[in-house]
Amino acid sequence: MASNKPLPNMETGLHERDRAGVQDFVLLENYESEAAFIDNLKKRFQENLIYTYIGQVLISVNPYKQLPIYSEAHIKEYRNKHFYEMPPHIFAVTDNAFRSLIEENRGQCVLISGESGSGKTEASKKVLQYIAACSGHQSTVEGVKDKLLKSNPVLEAFGNAKTNRNDNSSRFGKYMDIQFDYKGTPIGGNILNYLLEKSRVVAQTPGERNFHIFYQLLAGADATLLQELHLERTLESYNYLTDGVKGSVKSIDDVDNFKQVQQALSVIDFSADEQREIFAIVASILHLGNIGFNEVEGNAQVNSRDLVVTVSRLLGVNASELGAALTHRTIDARGDVVTSPLNQELAIYARDALAKAVYDRLFSWLVQRLNISLQAKETRGARNNVMGILDIYGFEIFKTNNFEQFCINFCNEKLQQLFIELTLKSEQDEYRREGIEWIPVEYFDNKVICNLIEEKHKGIISILDEECLRPGEPTDRTFLDKLTQKLAEHRHYVCHEKAPIHVQKIMGRDEFRLVHYAGEVTYSVNGFLDKNNDLLFRDLKETLSKSGNNIVRSCFPESELSSKKRPDTAISQFKCSLNNLMDILMCKEPSYIRCIKPNDLQSPGIFDDQLVLHQVKYLGLMENLRVRRAGFAYRRSYELFLERYKCLSKSTWPNYKGSSGAKGGVQQLVKDLGYNSDQYKMGETKLFIRWPRTLFDTEDAYQAK
Ligand code: ADP
Ligand code: MG
Repeated sequence: MASNKPLPNMETGLHERDRAGVQDFVLLENYESEAAFIDNLKKRFQENLIYTYIGQVLISVNPYKQLPIYSEAHIKEYRNKHFYEMPPHIFAVTDNAFRSLIEENRGQCVLISGESGSGKTEASKKVLQYIAACSGHQSTVEGVKDKLLKSNPVLEAFGNAKTNRNDNSSRFGKYMDIQFDYKGTPIGGNILNYLLEKSRVVAQTPGERNFHIFYQLLAGADATLLQELHLERTLESYNYLTDGVKGSVKSIDDVDNFKQVQQALSVIDFSADEQREIFAIVASILHLGNIGFNEVEGNAQVNSRDLVVTVSRLLGVNASELGAALTHRTIDARGDVVTSPLNQELAIYARDALAKAVYDRLFSWLVQRLNISLQAKETRGARNNVMGILDIYGFEIFKTNNFEQFCINFCNEKLQQLFIELTLKSEQDEYRREGIEWIPVEYFDNKVICNLIEEKHKGIISILDEECLRPGEPTDRTFLDKLTQKLAEHRHYVCHEKAPIHVQKIMGRDEFRLVHYAGEVTYSVNGFLDKNNDLLFRDLKETLSKSGNNIVRSCFPESELSSKKRPDTAISQFKCSLNNLMDILMCKEPSYIRCIKPNDLQSPGIFDDQLVLHQVKYLGLMENLRVRRAGFAYRRSYELFLERYKCLSKSTWPNYKGSSGAKGGVQQLVKDLGYNSDQYKMGETKLFIRWPRTLFDTEDAYQAK
């Protein structure tokens, strides 16, 4: 039961060396061995020690059970402690970042990565919990903190869903900035959202669900609200919910969660009107999914006039206009306006596109609205005092990988690029600052893959956009042909024709393969053009732009119709928002949390070595460790080192009397301890020790004392 009693004051993890591995991987002697790495994680996991460091990087293994390590008392334990004084913990990382923010006035960001279900979102909440608990206590502050905390249940209700990997899986990326005043009191926040998986609104994989809010509304709304929205409680009544899990899910309490969402909306100052409008939109989508079409002489006709009326009431639009917009398409070709009827297939396409667009834009509206509430009243002098938290989808390799995985994996390439620039660079910077010479380590720079994807005119994104805009009849296959034409020679692009035999066997003719930094992924091009064009017929946009529902109207502004400019494609928008994110993160000091999922069953106590190894590989942890080790595994300021070990030499005990301060004391101490000159280096302010062995010996001597 190591977890809940505070461990002895320790700097190095050596106390734990035998009982539960090492708490910093740099202390692992067999550091090149993947097996030793996994073994260390496993030993600790079995002792409920889910956190381990690689230097300053925190590795977190999802325990899938509540551990008593997040209490107020724990927060106090970690407050204002030196990073290595305490056992590894997300609170230590947060405290460290928080203190740099306040004391050094340096903007911070906490970057959380890992695959679905590894604990990213929970980690982001712990960071927020710590910040909220250890910062100012005036009543205005409580308001801001409350709103920051309450934004989570709202975002999760609308942006999370049960998937086969995680019962509460975030289906969007999130970056949240918390602003502080100079005293370290939170005064506001801002959220950026990325790429909501809107296809889930109209269809779900077996075993999964639509977004939580649909179920919450049906289960949790009182009778009056249900009646207002023309809803009944049974899930089976709604086509958009019937692919998914129909019964209740053990880990999810929709009724209670709905209460929390309503309460959160109120805390964040959503007016009663706004709340009514939000739920009307959610309900309208459920009804919309039930509208079917008959086909008469090739023309689609709605099969239920009543449903169209219900949807139009909820969306605040004219019913006959909506009916017509669902079954017709108007094209404005340089002033020639032509309206033609849709066939059944296209009408269904239009209906689903509408449902997805309405939901997606509602989600973005919610984020914008949250931001208005979170906006700092007073930002003078607080511009640098920002801590960002990034909780974004990890690398995905599925059986079939689509446009969505392509976007997500591109995002991870960008983050890896950032990781390289920030960690390797900062490591080198420290050596430079401290005047230590070192030999740079070889590492794989994934810039080449980022370029393959995003380079202007030549990259995959450009080729995709070009194909989307090309007149004639571009298809997914013509897109694939273009890719192959232009990229076949690229080291990181593999086409069917040129693939090695064993790869060709598993590749379809409609697939291409990318050699990502984290592994090879085969993408099916099916749907790339459609998803990238992300077309919502003009007639529907026009109908919604005249809505009496304020939210709907602001989500579908008239300006979009009159604009001559073609809207950006989905991937271009994504690329642009990612590049903005990189700019934001680039000027901040990063803290990394790498989350690992111990098993695929969402169960406590099970550690699947193979599954973990796979994640360790693609998170680049071995490489991370190698880089960290190639430098100096251990570094400590002269003051701290002397304070701890001065008892080991007569010349430093009880106090070093020399003239050159702590540095001189340490110089004397390492000489007395018999350190070899290749074992350590003296920097400007810190002692650097290359091998942990050196330190083990020192520590053993210290223990013996
Ligand atoms: P991700 O965001 O990486 O997909 P989540 O943060 O949603 O994953 O975590 C998935 C589930 O795992 C959570 O719903 C929770 O049940 C469990 N979990 C994650 N982190 C912890 C933790 N630190 N302690 C206890 N349970 C956790
Ligand atoms: Mg998540």
